[in-house]
Amino acid sequence: MASEMGTLVFATHNSNKAEEIRAALGGSWQIRTLKDAGIETEIPEPHDTLEENAREKSLTIQRLTGTDCFSEDTGLEVEALGGEPGVKSARYAGEERNFYENILKLLSRLSGQENRKARFRTVISYRRGEQEYQFEGICPGSITTEMRGEGGFGYDPVFVPEGDTRTFAEMTMEEKNRYSHRKKAMDALIDFLQGVEPGIE
Ligand code: IMP
Repeated sequence: MASEMGTLVFATHNSNKAEEIRAALGGSWQIRTLKDAGIETEIPEPHDTLEENAREKSLTIQRLTGTDCFSEDTGLEVEALGGEPGVKSARYAGEERNFYENILKLLSRLSGQENRKARFRTVISYRRGEQEYQFEGICPGSITTEMRGEGGFGYDPVFVPEGDTRTFAEMTMEEKNRYSHRKKAMDALIDFLQGVEPGIE
């Protein structure tokens, strides 16, 4: 997959994530999503850890496309909630995966709680032939008491990264990428790929 064109297949249906990663890479690698590859299959996320879900996604898509690829799984880990919603972040308030309902549930669980510490954690799984490599990215921060900002997706309106006072939803994509968990994990993948001879898959 580390081809001469510098193309990476990203096993996701989430266009926000693909756009963030494209912005983070600044055109140095071409990112092809499942949509670009004409794949509509729902990717399973059945496991209790980000690591296992990421592994399952990249393996599923590698088998389906016959191409090496990478996937990622992200969770919001809130200290006062013992690391919840974590791997359940997308479905926190129910199977319909509604961002707004998820935030309302989170704010209600943290109501009156002084410890607002949280972190986003991303695990990338990169499959190259029979090998799997994982990369992690962490963004520490805190949860606000109310939603702020219009940008981003998911929990962005209530997450303030350490070192800033704005929520991710109040930032441009480039600003979010200065802190982003996904960007850090992606940088680790790119560092790894740059040590890999192009086109030797
Ligand atoms: P996924 O299972 O990796 O797609 O992500 C789980 C959930 O975490 C998503 O549905 C979002 O609600 C949330 N999430 C993942 N990444 C971010 C982010 O960068 N900002 C805000 N929420 C995110």
